[in-house]
Amino acid sequence: MEREIICTSCPMGCHVMVELDGEQIVKITGNTCARGERYARAEVTDPKRTITTTVALVDGGVLPIKSDAPLSKKNIDQYLKQIHEIVAERPVLIGDVLLADIDGNGVNIVATQNAF
Ligand code: SF4
Repeated sequence: MEREIICTSCPMGCHVMVELDGEQIVKITGNTCARGERYARAEVTDPKRTITTTVALVDGGVLPIKSDAPLSKKNIDQYLKQIHEIVAERPVLIGDVLLADIDGNGVNIVATQNAF
């Protein structure tokens, strides 16, 4: 089986082909650099995404947040459940950690806007 991955590590957007034998990666082609190989390998084995969403503020309104690094897609539902339990209290500054180490690997959920 072959999977085509578009590398998003830089604006070139190389089309990287990953040849698989079951779940084993046999060959990676089409990448222009080593970053592309790493990206394609991660996309096939454990794709990750940065979460962006909002959480409630204790006195009403919502606060935009994001994860400060990509999180494993396979656990996104669980992370979103934890994130949506957050009720933030003013004042909040951009970059404030609202939930530390959500994944056990040091990824934090941080504010992306001030709320005074
Ligand atoms: S493979 Fe390298 S050059 Fe191509 S999109 Fe990825 S990072 Fe950019």
